[in-house]
Amino acid sequence: MTRSWILCLVFCVLVVETAKPASQLQRSTVTEGMVKVVNTFCCPRRLRCCIPDKRVAIDKSVDEIEARMWLRLYNAELRKRAASAAEASWAHSTNMNPTTAAAAIRASSQLKKWKLKKRKEAKRFTPAAYSEDLRRQFWLISLDGTPEDSNDLRQMSKLKNDIETLYSTGKACRDENEDEVCHPLEPDLERIFATSRDYNELQWAWLGFRDAVGPAMREKFARLVELKNSGAQEHGNIWAKWWGNIYSLVAPYPDQPDMNVTSVLLEKGYDPLRMFKTAEEFFTSIGLRELPEVFWEKSMIVRPDDREVSCHPTSWDFHHQSDVRVKMCTEVNHEYLETVHHELGHIQYFLQYEDQPMLYRDGANPGFHEAVGDTIALSAMTPGHLRTVGLLEDWPDSHESEINFLLRQALDKIPALAMGLMIDTWQSRVFSGKITADEYNREWWKLRLEYQGLSPPVQRTEEDFDAGSKFHIVYGFAMMRYFVSYIIQFQFHESLCREAGYLQGPLHKCDIYGSSEAGDRLREMLRMGQSQPWPEAMRAMTGQSKMATSAILEYFQPLMKWLREQNKKESLGW
Ligand SMILES: [Zn+2]
Repeated sequence: MTRSWILCLVFCVLVVETAKPASQLQRSTVTEGMVKVVNTFCCPRRLRCCIPDKRVAIDKSVDEIEARMWLRLYNAELRKRAASAAEASWAHSTNMNPTTAAAAIRASSQLKKWKLKKRKEAKRFTPAAYSEDLRRQFWLISLDGTPEDSNDLRQMSKLKNDIETLYSTGKACRDENEDEVCHPLEPDLERIFATSRDYNELQWAWLGFRDAVGPAMREKFARLVELKNSGAQEHGNIWAKWWGNIYSLVAPYPDQPDMNVTSVLLEKGYDPLRMFKTAEEFFTSIGLRELPEVFWEKSMIVRPDDREVSCHPTSWDFHHQSDVRVKMCTEVNHEYLETVHHELGHIQYFLQYEDQPMLYRDGANPGFHEAVGDTIALSAMTPGHLRTVGLLEDWPDSHESEINFLLRQALDKIPALAMGLMIDTWQSRVFSGKITADEYNREWWKLRLEYQGLSPPVQRTEEDFDAGSKFHIVYGFAMMRYFVSYIIQFQFHESLCREAGYLQGPLHKCDIYGSSEAGDRLREMLRMGQSQPWPEAMRAMTGQSKMATSAILEYFQPLMKWLREQNKKESLGW
C-alpha cells in the first residue's frame, strides 16, 4: 500500500467518523460535496466504498454557511425567473391571444418546474439547526404546492390560463339599434350594475356574463381542483362584494348632498392619468416614494380598443430596478378613484421591500398587502380631504351628512366581510371534497343565502357555474386576504392617525395627509416585507401584535348608534 493510499484511508475514516452520529448532528463540517471529492479524487478505485452510499444518504448538510450560500443563489435565480414569468403573464393579460397565452403557460410551467426542483433540493438542509432568518426562508420554500408530476403541472398551467381567458374575454351581447353589441364585464357591465335601475337590463347583464363564462368553465374548474389537491397533498397542506352602488336607494338623508365625487371629477376634466397623479400626491405627502418613470411608461391604465385585455385591476412587481406597473381599465368616477388608491398601496409595498431577498418580497400576509392602499383611502376619501383637493364643494358639516358618509363606507366594507367568508367557505369545501363537482352551483347559492341573504334573480341549475363569475375564484385568490384587510386597515388607520397627532376627533374624520410621522411608521412596516411573521409587522405598525376589531367598531360607532334607533321597529334577517 503506497503512502497516498494510507493517507486517503485515514482521511476517509475521519470523514466517516465525523458523519457518524447523524441523528444527533447539529453542526458538522461534512457535506455531500466533500464526500464526492473524497470518493472521486482522493480514494483509489478499490477504496471508493470507504464512504458507503448510506453514509452519503445521511449526509444532510447542516453547514449554515453552505445553506446561506444556497439561499443566496436561490433568491437571485428566483428573481430572474419570476421576472420573466411576470413579463410573459403581463404580455398575455394586456394582449390576449393564443400566442401570448402559449408563452405565458410556458413561462409559468418553467418557473413552477424550477421551484419544484429546488424544493426537493432544499430537503438536504436541516433548517432547525440554523438561525431564524434561514429557517424562515426554507419554510417559505416548503410552502410551494406545485405537483410533482410534470404532466399534471403542464395541465394545471393550461387549465388555469383557459379559465382566466374565458373570464377576461367573456361578454354579454344584445341588440342595440338593430346591431348586436357585446359588452365586456369591465368596464361596461360594471357601469350598468352601478348606474342602471332598470330591472330587465340588470337581469340581462347579470345573466349574460354568467352564461358567457360559467358553463364553459365548469369542467375545467373541476379538473383544476383535482390537480391542485394532488399538489397540496404531496407536501402536506392544502362578488356583491361592494354594495356602495345601491347607496342612492338606501341613503339615510337623501335630501343631503351626495358625497360621490364622480360629477365633480367629470366637470373638472379629470382623466385617468390625473386620478393617478392625485393619489400619488397623497403617498408622497407623507414621505413615501414617488412612482418611478417605468410605472408611467409601462402601466396599462385605460382599456385599449385594439385588442382583448384583462381589465380586472391588478398591480404587478417585475422584481427589477423598481419596475412596477398597474393594469386596469380606469373610468373617471368615485369608485375608480378609490381603486386607484388601493392599487397604489400595492405598488408602494413593492417599492418599499425591493431591497429584501426575493423570498421576503411579499406582504407580511396577503391581508396586509390588500390593506395598505385602503388605509390611505380612509384618509384620502374623507369629505374633509376631498374638500381640500377641490372635489367636494357643498358638503355640510352636519350629523346627517356624517351618517350618510358612514353608511356609504359601511356598504363598501361590511358586506365584503360576509362575502369573503362565504367564498372561502365554498372554496375550502370544494377542495376538501365536501362539495362535489355535481353540486357546485346548488351549494354556492345555499351559502350566498346563508351568509349574504342573496338569491339569484332567475332559476339556476347545475348546468350553470356562477362561482366562475368571481374573479378571485377564477384566479385562485383566497378571499381571506380581503376579510383580514377590512379589519386591519382600521387598525392601521387608527395607529397612523395617532402618529400624525390626531388624538381627539372621531376616527372617520381623521386625515393623515402631509404627516411625515405617519409616513415613517407605515414605511417601517412596508420595508419588512414578509421577513418576519405578520404579528411582528403588526407590532411595528400598531404597537400590538394581534388583529383586533376595536378600531372598526370605533370608526362606525355613530352609524351603529343611528342604526340601532332605526331598527327598533324592524325585524332583522332573511
Ligand atoms: Zn388588491
